[in-house]
Amino acid sequence: MAGVSRRLLCLMPTAFVTGITGQDGQHLAEFLHGQGYHVFGMVKGQNNPRVERIQAELPFVELVSGDLADLPSLVSAMEACQPDEVYNLGAISFVALSFSQAELTANISGLGVLRMLEAVRMVGGAKDNPIRFYQASSSEMFGQVRETPQTELTPFHPRSPYGCAKVFGHDIVVNYRESYGMHASSGILFNHEGPRRGIEFVTRKVTNAVARIKLGLQDEVVLGNLDSKRDWGYAGDYVKGMWLMLQQDQPGDYVLATGETHSIEELVQRAFAEVGIDNWADYVRQDPKFLRPAEVDLLIGDATKARTKLGWEPEVDFPALVKMMVAHDLQLEAAKAGLPVPG
Ligand code: NAP
Repeated sequence: MAGVSRRLLCLMPTAFVTGITGQDGQHLAEFLHGQGYHVFGMVKGQNNPRVERIQAELPFVELVSGDLADLPSLVSAMEACQPDEVYNLGAISFVALSFSQAELTANISGLGVLRMLEAVRMVGGAKDNPIRFYQASSSEMFGQVRETPQTELTPFHPRSPYGCAKVFGHDIVVNYRESYGMHASSGILFNHEGPRRGIEFVTRKVTNAVARIKLGLQDEVVLGNLDSKRDWGYAGDYVKGMWLMLQQDQPGDYVLATGETHSIEELVQRAFAEVGIDNWADYVRQDPKFLRPAEVDLLIGDATKARTKLGWEPEVDFPALVKMMVAHDLQLEAAKAGLPVPG
């Protein structure tokens, strides 16, 4: 198939996704499968514990081996897949970890983007159908925000090694686009969540703890700063935006956000209210060990460009998102403990 345009031959288009075991990788794979794509997902490691779940939940995904730290493995994986579209979602994505493992974060979340761009350049795709590339940029690049709300033109001021690595990734995508004419786009995504969110992230930590407290399996939830404000959307809505970016004739950068911001305290209050607990403060303890060395106080995005150019709209609002996550965690934790789900 090398060198032949799948699109022109009207064959099933092929997507190559890094970060397939993560939240967005799973949502994107489902979405692309629904659009008729053949989906390849890259997994790292010789015995990745998340592979079994991916094979069970997303049996249509063909897994290939590769690591963002290893350019030859990326080239081999891409040669084997001959993709039309590449989605680089793989990263060290947890801000707190990026402070303790800053070099690893820079290597995977920053230099990993450069390696992916090089692999795309080497494998290339057909002349009339060059590979299109999506980079998972982040609102954490805005950090100490210079203006509110943040748009594609807002200057970056990252406040963590993760944010700094993402700025490098973002800038190198712009550079490769301008230098080599690549169809390379970046989505500057504000926080997006859902039942597949890792338990280490604050939204899922809260909804899971609330479910366990309701079921009598846990006494409290220990958190850091309750005043930080974030623009939270639903991951299922955001992956559609990624795909839309690669369907445009011209590449570009797009903010995806809801345009609403909510504090962590509001999140906690709403999650406890979902299980009928009003005295939420009795179950919450703050511990300075969860504070970041440098905080990001307020993020709120302006997705006007994505709305007008891509026709993208988020569909799940904040209350519906919290409801969905709490309901999922109640089911999950009740099943694990062999308890009935409270009515
Ligand atoms: P996630 O759940 O943490 O998933 C991260 C993925 O990266 C996992 O599949 C992980 O694989 C993979 N990975 C880590 N190190 C790797 C390496 N050395 N080589 C190859 N893959 C590696 O993240 P997510 O929430 O789905 O986010 C997807 C992308 O969007 C990330 O780049 C993230 O930084 C970015 N982003 C996310 C948000 C958000 O709110 N979710 C907002 C803005 C941007 P293993 O399972 O093998 O570790």
